Amino acid sequence: MTIRIAIIGYGKIARTEHAPAIAAHPGFELVAVVSPSGAADAGVPVFTSLSELLTAMPRGLEAVAICTPPRVRRAIAAQAIDRGLAVLLEKPPATTLGELEALVAMARAAGTCLFAAWHSQYAPAVAPAAALLAGERLASLAIDWREDVRKWHPGQEWIWEPDGFGVFDTGVNALSIVTAILTERLEVEEAELVIPAGRQAPIAASLHFAGRDRTACFDWREQGEEAWRIRLTTRSGRTLAIEGGGARLVVDGKEQPLGAFAEYPAIYARFAELVTAGRIAVDSEPMRLLADTALIARRLTVAADA
Ligand code: NAP
Repeated sequence: MTIRIAIIGYGKIARTEHAPAIAAHPGFELVAVVSPSGAADAGVPVFTSLSELLTAMPRGLEAVAICTPPRVRRAIAAQAIDRGLAVLLEKPPATTLGELEALVAMARAAGTCLFAAWHSQYAPAVAPAAALLAGERLASLAIDWREDVRKWHPGQEWIWEPDGFGVFDTGVNALSIVTAILTERLEVEEAELVIPAGRQAPIAASLHFAGRDRTACFDWREQGEEAWRIRLTTRSGRTLAIEGGGARLVVDGKEQPLGAFAEYPAIYARFAELVTAGRIAVDSEPMRLLADTALIARRLTVAADA
């Protein structure tokens, strides 16, 4: 059976990743797009809201992929679940843990599929790293996630709103990788958030996790060499380095052969399985780490143009 799907929120990630991945998957057909400011390039009917789409195509689809900024995701997902549709949530899947738990409860009660798609968990280094770390105990962890916000997020004002996540919009990708590859649960013990004057969300953050030598550094002010790197050692003496956001894996100094970087095709392959089985797959651990960070972090204000 072909799964007829609509993309809700037709911005950067919808255009560059979701639409091509849907087009490439034989089990999906893109039938509509919701975009408040239009989407002439979508090649399918465009609506300004999910309500308008559902009125025009009441039995015209089985699934939605919600690719809006996080703020509006919960209301759209709730409406879709209420109509019995399968829902894929772009990351972060909600703005709070409470919202996410409410969506899971709604999907469970309705018997519908709900999928929190943490895209970095589908990077090629992640499954092999998880397999290597099964049964191992962590000795040290260093997350180093630095990029230039001006290059990657031009014009995206929503990222600076209180529920825009700031540097964690991308930093949560690293957290989603570590929660996928580690068998033990991380606890945030200390945190600092660096917030530009006049903004509501951090431009940089540092975390210390409970236990020795377990740190994370996230920084959107990098003007030189950017990094999307996780280094860790195990108590048995192994060293792993995940580089390029999960594109490369180096184990004990040796580069590992990996498949192509194809996160979104893998996401849609998984979504197809979940839709068919009517299942829920929601990993809330990356959100818990962010929520715990917000509860205990020191706040440091820096100049607006820092
Ligand atoms: P974006 O370029 O700003 O696109 C967001 C889109 O959502 C806009 O087209 C916006 O439409 C639309 N939208 C806003 N409110 C809506 C509503 N109520 N109903 C329907 N559409 C609505 O943002 P993005 O970079 O694609 O990011 C979107 C999400 O994907 C974020 O959660 C982000 O973390 C995640 N993500 C982004 C990337 C990336 O590289 N950009 C990678 C992975 C995941 P209008 O312009 O008409 O308001």
